[in-house]
Amino acid sequence: MNRVHIKTYGCQMNERDSEAVAALLRTRGYRIVDDENDCDILLLNTCSVRDFAEQKAIAKAENIAVRKRRRPEFVLGILGCMAQNRGAALLDLLPDLDLVVGTQKFHTVAGYLDNLRAARQAGIPLAQPIVDTAEEPGSQNALADHILADRQVTAFVSIQQGCDMQCAYCIVPKTRGDERSRPMDAIVAECRALAARGIREVTLLGQIVTSYGRRDYAHTGGISPFVQLLERIHAVDGIERIRFTSPHPRGFRDDLVAAYARLPKLCEHVHLPVQSGSDRILSAMNRPYSRERYLELVAALRTARPGLALSTDIIVGFPGETDADFAQTAALFAEADYDMAYVFKYSVRTGTPAEPLGDPVDEAEKERRNQELLRLLEENSRRHTAALLGTVQEVLVEGPDKAGRRYMGRTRINRVVHFPGTEEQIGRLIPVRIDRVTPAALYGETVPAQ
Ligand code: SF4
Repeated sequence: MNRVHIKTYGCQMNERDSEAVAALLRTRGYRIVDDENDCDILLLNTCSVRDFAEQKAIAKAENIAVRKRRRPEFVLGILGCMAQNRGAALLDLLPDLDLVVGTQKFHTVAGYLDNLRAARQAGIPLAQPIVDTAEEPGSQNALADHILADRQVTAFVSIQQGCDMQCAYCIVPKTRGDERSRPMDAIVAECRALAARGIREVTLLGQIVTSYGRRDYAHTGGISPFVQLLERIHAVDGIERIRFTSPHPRGFRDDLVAAYARLPKLCEHVHLPVQSGSDRILSAMNRPYSRERYLELVAALRTARPGLALSTDIIVGFPGETDADFAQTAALFAEADYDMAYVFKYSVRTGTPAEPLGDPVDEAEKERRNQELLRLLEENSRRHTAALLGTVQEVLVEGPDKAGRRYMGRTRINRVVHFPGTEEQIGRLIPVRIDRVTPAALYGETVPAQ
């Protein structure tokens, strides 16, 4: 009765939260299993960014509830953003739930499961399901353990939670709460411990990482707390690469741009969410930058680190977006020359500042705008990928690929490369000459180090 499967929806932050919950459950004697059909406890760690994501998790829970009715001792829980967003109201939709745990209460899951199991074993029916979505000061510090696979070389490290920005379309401030940062010393110690366990690349995670520590640490010599943290992780022996997500363009001041010129472990891949290329729509979205400032930033980053790859998030069809606004977005999209973009058609999220604006842009028009950006992205992607042919890329070797015929790793700009490798290369940075490219991956041969 102690086999737990955690199914995760949504972003890398959710992946990391699930990993931390799993690590905690393991220390409490639970077994974490990969097969959702062969478990005693199923936890859905959910996403609320779009209504579609919530509906997917609800459909899954309904499906599992059928199984639960045949096996009453089975435990079904919903964790994370949708639990926070909907709270006890989820029980109206899903009366078979045992557990609803919000984003500041992940660390309580093990205790609640202990109680549920003890009650079941004693034959005591619970008066009602457990619902805990309270805010908890310091909860961002509660989970720092990792479950690392054999010879794992990359890891996520959570550095802050929540967001104070109130972008008009975004549910995150409601589901993740106010900005809260972890202590710098604890994050650096976690990176050191990961390096000692073989981790070579860390991705720092938070809802708005560039705001890290702004209320807790002073700027020193014009250096923000986030860049101070990057400097300290950069000094950790064994950590060879640093990435971060998700930042805000507002957080890219001169010190962070300059960090790309002086911190070689900082990978030259920046995810820089723009959302719109129209100043009018940016203002309606409550995004505090202009298209001009954004493009200046892109140019400054590319000057600081030539070859930098850029990705972004864009919303098409935000309320009030006209053809002229969209034309500005398409022009910015072309000018920024993105390697990758996540394009979303706007949909209303209940509880966001934009909710009262409704959803006036016609669905067909949204789809047309979506397709136009995807076509531009495909052109960019083909061009950027073709430019890698014949080049030598530094690859961090992760292990055998899924087919088991080659080894795989990632370039500094996060492109997957397959090549003939050896087990001894796992965790090492090796040069690979790219001799074949597809939209999804690169293929090559190792070359002697220069
Ligand atoms: S900065 Fe990001 S997480 Fe924060 S409100 Fe805006 S979109 Fe949401």
